[in-house]
Amino acid sequence: MRSVLGPGCYVHFDRDLCTGCTDCVRACPTRAIRVQNSKSALIVDQCIGCGECLRVCPTGALTAATSELEEVAQDQISVAIVSPVLYAQVAEVMPQDVLRGLRRMGFQHTMDLSYQIELFQAATREFIERNRTAPQAPWPLISPVCPVVLRLIDVQFPSLRPHVLPFLRPTALLARDVKPRLIQEYGVEEAAVVLYHITPNRSSLPGERSYVDKVLGINDVYSELMRHLQPSPTPPPIPLAHDPPEQDRFKYGTTSKGVLWGMSGGEIAGLDTDRSLAISGLSETIAYLQKIELGLFRDIEYIEFRTCPAGCVGGKHAAVDKYLAQSALQKLARMLGAGQNVTRDQIINLYNAGWFVAAPDDTEPVYRSGMHREPLTIASLQEIDTLLEKIQGKDCALCGAPNCRTFAEDVVRSRASLRDCFLMCKRERSGPK
Ligand code: SF4
Ligand code: SF4
Repeated sequence: MRSVLGPGCYVHFDRDLCTGCTDCVRACPTRAIRVQNSKSALIVDQCIGCGECLRVCPTGALTAATSELEEVAQDQISVAIVSPVLYAQVAEVMPQDVLRGLRRMGFQHTMDLSYQIELFQAATREFIERNRTAPQAPWPLISPVCPVVLRLIDVQFPSLRPHVLPFLRPTALLARDVKPRLIQEYGVEEAAVVLYHITPNRSSLPGERSYVDKVLGINDVYSELMRHLQPSPTPPPIPLAHDPPEQDRFKYGTTSKGVLWGMSGGEIAGLDTDRSLAISGLSETIAYLQKIELGLFRDIEYIEFRTCPAGCVGGKHAAVDKYLAQSALQKLARMLGAGQNVTRDQIINLYNAGWFVAAPDDTEPVYRSGMHREPLTIASLQEIDTLLEKIQGKDCALCGAPNCRTFAEDVVRSRASLRDCFLMCKRERSGPK
């Protein structure tokens, strides 16, 4: 039976499928998982939703905590916010037909992120320009776009928080903008409008920083979407009242800048700086965050991080190969042509009004109840060292923790008992030699 593994956790766990192999324990970059009693994985804390455990689990015991497509039919007003990566999954179909297919599936509204991406990109340029000569500027700036990177910084690199560009990411900008407009248009309560983010990496929790209500993986909608892309002799009518008003229509059109964001390098491509980097993949991201922490890359102005390999096209919940998807996005960008939908005046007005900046409570760390690991005191660190000498372990993981230090830390935090150490108990049983 699937169950959520504790508060603030991005993973569902099926105890019946777990064999206790500890592959997930070893793969987790934040040491969030422990296996207890040989056959029950338990997330302790600090899950960042990177999905590494899902990638390595050989039995499918772990799945992303997410919404189900069937829920769309129960919502009064459902809105699909679409990652450009979706277009890359159906290479021969134009974006507007993909959005139409989603509406045939039951979403009343479909929103392309392109316009918000352009706004965000232009505002980032403006931020860099205005702060270029400020001596206290926290170079390099870190992109706030990938939520997994933000959580990773929160839990493992807190000293880098000031480097994160203090803007909401495009999905959140769109969601924050669109929800009140629909509530007003329909005259309904807030709960009646449900915003779904259709994404290649289902790693958002409801309400978390993103303003999105629910998250669906691209592979959750893919087969149903393919069915609804087929020409139908009598397609159900698409209610025009649900389309954006004519004057706003351009806001939801797809642009080349928008689709390129689906791949690594797409975000920095539109910045007026040659001092920028695009890093993708979880281990590379961790390695470069460590380097920034050591004071390297101060001459770089902006770093785009994506924990998925090759960028969002490499998300776990994408439906097609990441390189095929990348090629499809490049082709689509060429077809859409260069061009800019936002004017400098628009940007300056929104920027000066603080429109891009996250509200104070948005900028708090993403810790949810039970996720935050309290810092250890000096006395606790000494206790851990004493325990490690006593254990004399070999990082065997038989206790269910990824290594002996984590196990000793769990003992000090009263989350594990020394009796769980297999080697120590064996030594004690066999007596002194
Ligand atoms: S999603 Fe990532 S952080 Fe969360 S438990 Fe799995 S491997 Fe660890
Ligand atoms: S990877 Fe983790 S959840 Fe999957 S079978 Fe092994 S111990 Fe169980």
